[in-house]
Amino acid sequence: MSLSGKTAIITGSNSGIGLGIARELAKAGADVVLNSFTDRDEDHALAAQIAQETGTNARYIKADMSKGDECRALIEKAGSCDILINNAGIQHVSPIDSFPVDKWDAIIAINLNSAFHTTAAALPMMRAAGWGRIVNIASAHGLTASPFKSAYIAAKHGIVGMTKTVALETAQEPITCNAICPGYVLTPLVEAQIPDTMKEYGMSREDVIKNVMLVRQPSREFATVEQLGGTAVFLCSVAAAQITGTTISVDGGWTAL
Ligand code: NAD
Repeated sequence: MSLSGKTAIITGSNSGIGLGIARELAKAGADVVLNSFTDRDEDHALAAQIAQETGTNARYIKADMSKGDECRALIEKAGSCDILINNAGIQHVSPIDSFPVDKWDAIIAINLNSAFHTTAAALPMMRAAGWGRIVNIASAHGLTASPFKSAYIAAKHGIVGMTKTVALETAQEPITCNAICPGYVLTPLVEAQIPDTMKEYGMSREDVIKNVMLVRQPSREFATVEQLGGTAVFLCSVAAAQITGTTISVDGGWTAL
């Protein structure tokens, strides 16, 4: 499972799943590039901490994944890209007939279009290096639907389709492209949904978690960022060389229902 000497760029990785994946890739020896649209001391400190803990060259590069030119610049600034994890994502919940246009555009740009731009910029580097791994973080919502998340669900279904297409375009090269579809993971993105749901249904935090969120997940447990990181490391390993164009669900059985 050693990823020593590989450069791994993880978009949207100063919190949650992206940060968890970055930590696991660095533990496996990869030089990770953390990213978000902010440029705070704590962003760079996170990278320094990972570098110190793992003895790798972790860095942080600011780039706004809602902007195509910044997505491509992230890959160029990193200098090389053996592993690309398209993870940046945002969420907004609203009925489709009152869905704010700016929120729709931002979700499609960050959750879907960014992966087009980073993939297009990274593929020539992977071809030059003779090896590459692309892992797109989709969602159980890339395979199923639920009301009021139309933009998110459209973007996540879109990235599942893009994953299969990129896999076919690279099938005869030493490059793979797969998607991971997480169920609920208790990250800042999910935390942000809890207060509104509590208000809407008049429920306690515990009831929202149990009866709105984990009711969809037969395991009745959140998946963890470490488990997502482990799945990403596996997809980058030698053992996964023939796994391409697929989706791996890490959802406690959600999509088996
Ligand atoms: P999170 O809010 O902790 O992480 C989102 C990351 O994206 C953050 O690092 C944030 O800084 C970054 N980001 C947001 N806008 C950006 C922009 N314009 N440019 C660059 N970075 C930006 O949430 P998370 O749950 O860790 O989500 C990570 C991914 O996992 C998302 O694609 C999300 O859709 C997906 N996902 C999450 C869950 C879950 O239950 N948490 C389930 C399925 C899929």
